[in-house]
This record gives sequence, C-alpha cells and structure tokens, in this order.
Amino acid sequence: MAEETIFSKIIRREIPADVVYQDELVTAFRDISPKAPTHVLIVPNVLIPTANDVLEAHEHALGRMFTVAAKIARAEGIAEDGYRLIVNCNKHGGQEVYHIHMHLLGGEPLGPMLSN
Ligand code: AMP
Repeated sequence: MAEETIFSKIIRREIPADVVYQDELVTAFRDISPKAPTHVLIVPNVLIPTANDVLEAHEHALGRMFTVAAKIARAEGIAEDGYRLIVNCNKHGGQEVYHIHMHLLGGEPLGPMLSN
C-alpha cells in the first residue's frame, strides 16, 4: 500500500486548501506556492503515487484530469492565450508529493519548457 500524502487530506477536506473543483474522480486546488498567476493542481481522488504506477483501471480518472484542466482553464480565462500542463515523476522529474498530480499553469507567457 502506498503511503498517503497531504493531498489525500485535502481531497477528504481534512485540511484547508483552496479547492476550485471536486467530483467523484478528481479534486483540483490552488498550489500553495504558485509559479504563475494561475497554478492549480489536479489530482485523482484515488492514490496513485507516480506516473510509473498508472494502470488501465486509472484511465477514467486520468482522462477526467484533462477534462477538468480544460474546464478550469476556461473558468480562469486563460484557455485562449494558453497554458501548460505538467506531471512530474520521481527524482529526476522533480516530484515532491507522491500522489500523482497535474499542474495547470498559465496567466502569463511561461517561457521555454525547461530552464536548461
Ligand atoms: P511536484 O513537485 O510536481 O510534486 O509538485 C508538488 C506541488 O505541490 C508543489 O508545487 C507545491 O507547492 C504543492 N503543494 C505542496 N503542499 C501543498 C498544499 N498543502 N496545498 C497546495 N499545494 C501544495
């Protein structure tokens, strides 16, 4: 069994977070340390630690993450100008929280995809 992270507590509403969307499959909340004017994290309600742990059974929830990302981007008014969706995996990917999540970043030009 994978170990829960703080994101499970946010999903269960046990700790405060700025939740912008929740349904039976996914939860979306604003990143506590935003890297762009819009920085929302979209997470499956079920604990999947990393991209390496994705199974076919997760496809419904993972697909919903994209649908919800597009919905939030429209609601934030950034859909037309564009935005970036990022999923970090493990150490080299810079993953800090081991509950898979999609970063939705936008609201200004984001520059090159990688800094080096
Ligand atoms: P990653 O490096 O892809 O694992 O990203 C983890 C993200 O979670 C970082 O951008 C953190 O700022 C964010 N984060 C960590 N704890 C919280 C929290 N309690 N509420 C909202 N965002 C958080």
